[in-house]
Amino acid sequence: MASNLFQTANILIDKLENKGFEAYIVGGAVRDHLLSKEVYDIDITTSAHPRDIKAIFPKTIDVALKHGTVIVCFMGETYEVTSYRAPTLSEDLKLRDFTINAIALQNNGKMVDPYFGQDDLKRKLIRGVVNPTERFKEDPLRMLRAFRFVSQLGFTVEEKTFLAITNKKQNIAKVAIERIAAEFGKLCLGVNCEKSLQLLMKSKLINEISEFNEINHCLMEEKILKAIPALTDMTEVWSLLLYYAKVNNCETFLRTWKQPKKVIDDVKMITSRLPILLTRCFSEEDLYFLGIEKAKKAERVRAVLKNEAHPNIEEIMRDYERLSIKNKKDLAINGKDIICLLKDAESRERVGQLISIVEKAVLSRHVENNKKAIIRWLRKEGYVNA
Ligand code: ATP
Ligand code: MG
Repeated sequence: MASNLFQTANILIDKLENKGFEAYIVGGAVRDHLLSKEVYDIDITTSAHPRDIKAIFPKTIDVALKHGTVIVCFMGETYEVTSYRAPTLSEDLKLRDFTINAIALQNNGKMVDPYFGQDDLKRKLIRGVVNPTERFKEDPLRMLRAFRFVSQLGFTVEEKTFLAITNKKQNIAKVAIERIAAEFGKLCLGVNCEKSLQLLMKSKLINEISEFNEINHCLMEEKILKAIPALTDMTEVWSLLLYYAKVNNCETFLRTWKQPKKVIDDVKMITSRLPILLTRCFSEEDLYFLGIEKAKKAERVRAVLKNEAHPNIEEIMRDYERLSIKNKKDLAINGKDIICLLKDAESRERVGQLISIVEKAVLSRHVENNKKAIIRWLRKEGYVNA
């Protein structure tokens, strides 16, 4: 897959070169390729103007034309193609965040590496290009990106670069929360998250991001730092942090972080069930109402909070498979059937209540999921008279 991506990128670059432009693969793709990591997306930098790019390639999408970026759909792949942000390649590379991200790859396989990014890759160092303080003044998000790369790559932040972060940390307050959230998400899910979070604290960069206020005390705790690497996505990480920090209103908090609705809904549901899940095994109702995906997430969070070495995912899946019903539609009785059992005067609300009573009774196997049996049970328990 990756080599195919590179091969196609080189054909794309040939096309630009044939029209007299320069073009190179840059950034994360070159870095990850040199680290023998899987490459998922390729960025290309070129001397061509977006209008030239659009004239050469029939299928393009305007994403950030203002910034000179066009997505080119080419031979079944998509590439972000950006015009040089400076007069030459070397100056364009100088505007990038870190030396390891400022290496360009020519289509003949030659590296253009004026800031010695390859040396830093070997030394496992995150170093700001030329003057880190200037780099962080231009775009303060880069400070958080430094720690994100520590987490993803297991590298160390070079001394001068770390010092520049401690000096310029206040500037991060100006950065949009969406950009911070994206980097924080990648940081939490990197293999070296623990080390990275420690640097975030040590540099005090975290104190400058007000959105962290409610939770940064729990990021100081070793238990939490050690727990996050066992989690698999941000829904789990947020659930752990918000539960542990006793955040009252998860929705308000996550809205401030501009998180997607699905993440907000799932975190709300998981955190509201966690207190009970920490005291006993998952019940049929827990599994049913959470659904299998959220149940697995809740289990991972529960296991780290309980200091257990592994979550019992297999047990959760097995018990979920054994549920008598997986959702309302599986019930042998529906709203219409219930209405027939009620007196006309009774409300729709009552129908909903009865459905949920039946749901719970079927789940806990107090009654068989069979229409006749359910009706008999409703009568016996006095829920309906008819
Ligand atoms: P990944 O895509 O794996 O998360 P990446 O290094 O490709 O990592 P992107 O955010 O996709 O990160 O950016 C692509 C490249 O653009 C970077 O490698 C870097 O050269 C440059 N870049 C991105 N963001 C910035 C920034 N804030 N300041 C300077 N250069 C940046
Ligand atoms: Mg990228």
